[in-house]
Amino acid sequence: MRMILVGPPGAGKGTQAAKLVDTFKIPHISSGDMLRAAVKEGTALGIQADTFMKAGQLVPDDVVIGMILERIAKPDCAHGFMLDGFPRTRPQAEALDESMHKAGVALEAVVLIEVPDAPIVERITGRVSDPDTGTIYHLKFNPPPADVAGRVVQRKDDTVEAVTTRLAKYHSETAPIVPFYESKGILKRVDGIGNPADVTKRITTALGK
Ligand code: AMP
Repeated sequence: MRMILVGPPGAGKGTQAAKLVDTFKIPHISSGDMLRAAVKEGTALGIQADTFMKAGQLVPDDVVIGMILERIAKPDCAHGFMLDGFPRTRPQAEALDESMHKAGVALEAVVLIEVPDAPIVERITGRVSDPDTGTIYHLKFNPPPADVAGRVVQRKDDTVEAVTTRLAKYHSETAPIVPFYESKGILKRVDGIGNPADVTKRITTALGK
């Protein structure tokens, strides 16, 4: 299965991907996670990406496209992958399309997790994760257990200011990729409101699993 998860920041893409990879047995490729790892390691790519990320801006297309096309060419992606956070712009979607076409493979599904703007800020500003396991929690809706609570961390771009920019970028840059995939007949719209397990069920049903 070659698929993409699309949705606004805080829609639950990372949470859902972590649940779905077990069902589909494919690697979860998060452009945000890859960029955060590059920032942490201090690579040239990370240094370039850091300022954009902190401000909630998109990292330039050429940087992200190269990083993802290289990643999906690796052997563990030969039978499929789940992209999360990429593509985020029309040029990224077109570059992915061209590269897959050249490789003689095709996308099977693009899952759009729909969440209106109103709950996003509360979802994102309460989001924390366990640095040891990567598990994502929410301080109010899904608080970390007592033995984990002391070590949870918050993303630098999960502030009200950065979220406002990220949401605006989602609407201006990322939403336009939806009709691109709709016209290919592979878009599945899923309601992202509700508890994560219910959303997972909606996604697996939409994917015919
Ligand atoms: P995410 O973890 O998907 O919310 O991404 C965090 C940040 O990484 C975004 O706000 C962007 O600054 C950057 N980023 C992640 N994926 C992309 C992408 N496909 N294109 C441009 N910037 C990206």
